[in-house]
Amino acid sequence: MKPVFIIFFGPPGCGKGTQAKKIKDDLGLEQVSTGELFRKHLNEQTSLGLQAQEYMARGALVPDEITIGMVRERLKEAGYEQGAIFDGFPRTAQQAEALDRLLAEMDSDICMVIDFHLPIEISRQRLMARQEGRADDKPEVIEKRLSDHARVEADVMPHFRAQSGLVRTLDANRTVDEIYQDVVALVRECMDQ
Ligand code: AMP
Repeated sequence: MKPVFIIFFGPPGCGKGTQAKKIKDDLGLEQVSTGELFRKHLNEQTSLGLQAQEYMARGALVPDEITIGMVRERLKEAGYEQGAIFDGFPRTAQQAEALDRLLAEMDSDICMVIDFHLPIEISRQRLMARQEGRADDKPEVIEKRLSDHARVEADVMPHFRAQSGLVRTLDANRTVDEIYQDVVALVRECMDQ
């Protein structure tokens, strides 16, 4: 079976990371979360982590060159037999174009973009209540990340919407299990192709 590559797109706090982890456990697709990769690099104090730190601390996007380079390295690792979910990537048109190229090099492409819809007020409430102890879950940084999301969406989504039928939307204002039922059905659509 050909590996499938799917993008989970949505505002911070929409649950895409939680859903990607469940898909990994149940269906074996890798999770490629740029936010988590940056946090791992930072924990390990790598030079990439230290470069990303100042951007992350203020809720700004890490420059494309650094982000794309990190994803390129991640895709060289093993574990993509079933495919992968990209979570929090791409966040710019340039990243989206780079991802298309990286997957083409692997003789593959994006099967689907799942667009998690969540009202901004709910997003804010969820981030405020989050207990993960993330350095960027502070009120002023949360506001910046929320307001930037509209810009991210305007930059990246036209790239995908130009490809007919690629983007599928999902109501993320529900319980984890309810959302998961829809997510599994969508991922299976790709796996069954
Ligand atoms: P996240 O865990 O997806 O909310 O990401 C946390 C932080 O990591 C973001 O606020 C950005 O500073 C950085 N980051 C994560 N993904 C990207 C990306 N695709 N492009 C640029 N910066 C990113």
